[in-house]
Amino acid sequence: MPDIKCLDEVLQKMKVPYEETVYQKGYRYGEGTALRLVRPKNTQQLSEILQCCNAEGIGVVPQGGNSGLVGSSTADNSGKQVVIGTDLLNKDIFQRDGDSLKVGAGFILDTVNQRLENEGMFLPIDIGASGSANIGGLISTNAAGSRAARYGNTKARTSEITVVTANGEVKQIKTDMRAVDPELPQDNSKIDPNNPFIGSQGYLGVIADAVMVVEEKPIRYETVVLVPKDNESISLIRRELQNDFGEALTAFEGMSGEALRLVGKNIQNTGYLFADEPQKVDYALLAEVATKDENEDLDAILYATLERLTDSKDVTTGLMGNSYLYWHHRHHISEAIKLEGQVIATDIAVRGADNLSAFRLEASEKLKKDFPDLMIVPFGHEALGAMHFNMVYPKEKELSPALKKEIQAAVYEPAVVKYKGTFSAEHGVGPHNAWAYDRFTPDEVKKQAEILKQKFDPNGIMNPNLNYGFRNRKGLNVT
Ligand SMILES: Cc1cc2nc3c(=O)[nH]c(=O)nc-3n(C[C@H](O)[C@H](O)[C@H](O)COP(=O)(O)OP(=O)(O)OC[C@H]3O[C@@H](n4cnc5c(N)ncnc54)[C@H](O)[C@@H]3O)c2cc1C
Repeated sequence: MPDIKCLDEVLQKMKVPYEETVYQKGYRYGEGTALRLVRPKNTQQLSEILQCCNAEGIGVVPQGGNSGLVGSSTADNSGKQVVIGTDLLNKDIFQRDGDSLKVGAGFILDTVNQRLENEGMFLPIDIGASGSANIGGLISTNAAGSRAARYGNTKARTSEITVVTANGEVKQIKTDMRAVDPELPQDNSKIDPNNPFIGSQGYLGVIADAVMVVEEKPIRYETVVLVPKDNESISLIRRELQNDFGEALTAFEGMSGEALRLVGKNIQNTGYLFADEPQKVDYALLAEVATKDENEDLDAILYATLERLTDSKDVTTGLMGNSYLYWHHRHHISEAIKLEGQVIATDIAVRGADNLSAFRLEASEKLKKDFPDLMIVPFGHEALGAMHFNMVYPKEKELSPALKKEIQAAVYEPAVVKYKGTFSAEHGVGPHNAWAYDRFTPDEVKKQAEILKQKFDPNGIMNPNLNYGFRNRKGLNVT
């Protein structure tokens, strides 16, 4: 067992809330028992905790809302790691000046938006876990979500961070908010050398607070669901909407017919979205537009676009007038899939949003042929070229880890190699997909990560369940 005398003294002296030997599970992956779950309230406490852990070589796992999807926010089973819960961290920091919001890492996304609502502003990061993910977690995962094509991902919304590195040093860092690669706007499969603390899952330090760029909130939204004639029509529909609405187009999502059918089947009190012909829809698109101008007749413009697309036969069916219902279906896909069987999740993006349909068709056909028991239920962020290409394996059949990996590899391989995309668009890298990182990441990227690790965390205490470098790096306990 590591020597925790120094740590316990700090916890007592600074009255830091903590619990001993806490067993925890992540939302989808990751579980273990933490030696201590400590909950610092401010940057000073955080710094002193890290100084002790660093001096004693105690592994530290930062944790926000524990909603991450790669298994990197919980301790391992050794009982030797300390989880730093950030739910109380800097909760006294919440100051807005124009579109800049300085905010403590412990604030949950929904709370931030509730507080901004009265001022007509919002932080436009839209994820299904907005009721639990906090600012520190969002930044550390560079979360994106349904409206990222319009408003950018978390990196694009973060102008400054306060981070505490392994030795307790407090750093104020202005982030590099330059435009992302337009052909592959969402890629969290590696550390960004220009913003090493954003999207690196607590591997290099703990985010204590940040300055976020917030937006004036639209006053009205309207959402439609469109069934494209075929896969070629998807890009055309997106371009038509972009031409008609420009920045007012706030979301453009894709949902496979199979995913929608599972929502109708498995989510209580919901029903089928295409009630008359649920079996006929192969793929549907959800488009949302928004306006800040109370005189703009959004419905009329959207209706005209819909009519034009229906006349040209690019859209075969269009639903309009019940935005809540359409988003309800979109937001319940993950849960519906989980209820159906054993989920095999992937989170890919391809280079060039126009190529997403070709990828989806090709991967679906191959998987159906090679693994006939699989149900294929992709959905995702069409405008980003990103997709949760998820699959369901029957509950009653055995799904060995090797088979699961083989199936995931059959998705990652074409996404990364043929379509020059990524095996992790949004969720980042963790023990769950470490093998894919090892396989698909070039050596120079790993080398760069090792240099950063050496610079900010030479003792390798920060999130020791991750490894962005080479696997045989000494001192790291790699899953
Ligand atoms: C239902 C559901 C829907 C989701 N939808 C989306 C989506 O649309 N888009 C998307 O991008 N993600 C999505 N996610 C994933 C997840 O919500 C995001 O990754 C989120 O940003 C994680 O935030 P968190 O506070 O829960 O972090 P955690 O899960 O607690 O931690 C995630 C990682 O960040 C590290 N970390 C946490 N806090 C800090 C900190 N202060 N400093 C340093 N490191 C830290 C942890 O060690 C861990 O490695 C979804 C998850 C769920 C459960």
